[in-house]
Amino acid sequence: MFSYRHAFHAGNHADVLKHMALLATLRHLHTKEGGLRLVDTHAGAGLYRLDHEQARTSGEAAHGVGALWDAATRASAAAPLPDAVQDYLGCLRSFNPDGTLLHYPGSPALLQALLRPQDRLTLFELHPTDGRLLDRAVRAWRQRTPHPAIELRRDNGFDGLRALLPPPTRRGLVLIDPSYELKTDYACVAATVADALARFAVGCYLVWYPVIGRTEAHQLPRRLRALAQRAQRPWLQAELNVGARPDPQAKATAARGRPVGGLRASGLFVINPPYTLAAQLRAALPWVLAALRQGTGADWRVATHEG
Ligand code: SAM
Repeated sequence: MFSYRHAFHAGNHADVLKHMALLATLRHLHTKEGGLRLVDTHAGAGLYRLDHEQARTSGEAAHGVGALWDAATRASAAAPLPDAVQDYLGCLRSFNPDGTLLHYPGSPALLQALLRPQDRLTLFELHPTDGRLLDRAVRAWRQRTPHPAIELRRDNGFDGLRALLPPPTRRGLVLIDPSYELKTDYACVAATVADALARFAVGCYLVWYPVIGRTEAHQLPRRLRALAQRAQRPWLQAELNVGARPDPQAKATAARGRPVGGLRASGLFVINPPYTLAAQLRAALPWVLAALRQGTGADWRVATHEG
């Protein structure tokens, strides 16, 4: 049984990077009329309350999207925000119309909000509780959308993706965002991407990964790069490191064998990225980092390869 619940982490710096890039990617794909097959292989609960105990206990959203929201509020009207930040904040505002950041949209909520009648969205979620919460959210979205092309499968996303590729329209965006609670998730991601590229080489694949001191985590972006290069597809890699948070409990925390200061950095590996994404992230990430920086070693980077 999985113990990971995204409600503790929703809206943290990793979500800011992932969701901003996801939105920018989808916006670009929407510049063409053809219907898209959208797949979220690890969907989570869909929508989160930032005043609930889980979010308040971890405090991660306050240091992530909360800090970004506050920085945007303070920003001078004379200095416009980078496009990707502006779009992400605009989307967050649509979930919080009274101007208080209380509701945080996870990837399913963001994807459904932008769904066009010609698109199809498939969500996978295995956790029984988060699956139930997502089921409730999906029912509400279906009622509001005239074209209820949203499907929830409370099933394994690694296995389920296979049957959905290639989509009939030959246009698709796949988000692969496991919790990496199981060490085997790293190998499953690489195997899933290899299989997906063999079935549908021109699909756009976004893989989120943690930057942590674990061999499998170091190897994953390298394995994805090798897969993209073997398939001769362009790729983009973006990482955001918010730096070490000063932790007065550091010694005690380390002594208990836990990572000190929480997750500092994460990355996104995108195969077949929109050609606009690198420039958008290079403009946005310095601004994001200025708002989210927690301590020493903070940094960002975007690398690309043309395929
Ligand atoms: N993509 C979500 C977002 O951005 O809002 C967050 C997803 S969270 C990081 C990962 C989720 O995957 C968890 O809710 C977990 O229960 C679920 N999960 C873990 N293994 C899975 C699998 N093999 N298939 C589908 N869901 C899985």
